[in-house]
Amino acid sequence: MHTDQFLVRIWGARGSYPTPGRKTIRYGGNTTCVELQIGGHTLVIDAGTGIINLGQDMVRRSKDANNKPIVATILLTHMHHDHTQGFPYFLPAYLGSSVLHILGPRTFDEEIEEALNHAVLPPSFPVSLHEMPSLKVVRTLQETEMILITEDHDYPQIYNVYQDNVQPSSDMICIRVLKSYAHPRNGVYFYRIEWHGKSMVFASDTEGYIDTDQRLVNFARNTDLIIHDAQYTRDEYASSKQGWGHSTPEMACEVAKQCKAKQLVLFHHDPRHSDDQIAAIEQEAQAMFADTVAAYEGLEMVL
Ligand SMILES: [Zn+2]
Ligand SMILES: [Zn+2]
Repeated sequence: MHTDQFLVRIWGARGSYPTPGRKTIRYGGNTTCVELQIGGHTLVIDAGTGIINLGQDMVRRSKDANNKPIVATILLTHMHHDHTQGFPYFLPAYLGSSVLHILGPRTFDEEIEEALNHAVLPPSFPVSLHEMPSLKVVRTLQETEMILITEDHDYPQIYNVYQDNVQPSSDMICIRVLKSYAHPRNGVYFYRIEWHGKSMVFASDTEGYIDTDQRLVNFARNTDLIIHDAQYTRDEYASSKQGWGHSTPEMACEVAKQCKAKQLVLFHHDPRHSDDQIAAIEQEAQAMFADTVAAYEGLEMVL
């Protein structure tokens, strides 16, 4: 089934650790997971606890489509717990018919497969990555690489942007990578995903700079949507959170303004922030950048 939509859906927007409870109902308590449905292809950014509900929904959708096998590309930004802890409970990984392409950065000297195995490995969890019946293609992604997914090929093709002479056409899904060094201790990947002239940029777990992260501004230039870290209020940041690798809403708005994004989504909510506090942060941010929304579970955006 090929649709002509570029759809972004939030399954988890909480930073650091999951926060179930009465004070987090509106924005949700699950950690990072964003689903993209693009022209019939499924892309997933990060595997925080939000991926658990997404996995159940993917299995339901597969059943509704006469048990159509699940094929998905999972892009990991970094290996911190709040971005991987849902993976052991991701139902499609346990179906032998599923094909999961898992791509992400090297962590120090560890290739992505090893690092992911640590997230799933016994004794922390009874099942190892290899024991999950799905077919998993796990590959470390370099910053010099670009991923293309074509109309009739569900498998991501990876090219070196300097060596391989490829010109992505607008009907291919094109994924670009930028490494940010503003997150302890091994940095984080930003992703830019383009298709049919539309684009979205995912930039969580990063801290702003004086006069704004200009590498990110260039990377995100003219994007339709940027999802940006906004974990701390300005006061929290100034009093105790500098150097922790997260941003304020001011930093997020400044990136959105300078890159001329159409829409900004505030992301990676602080686990100590209640719904009311996030709503207040959202309102303040809207005064700085009008087309801003604070991410909540179930938020859907069609680009
Ligand atoms: Zn995080
Ligand atoms: Zn992190």
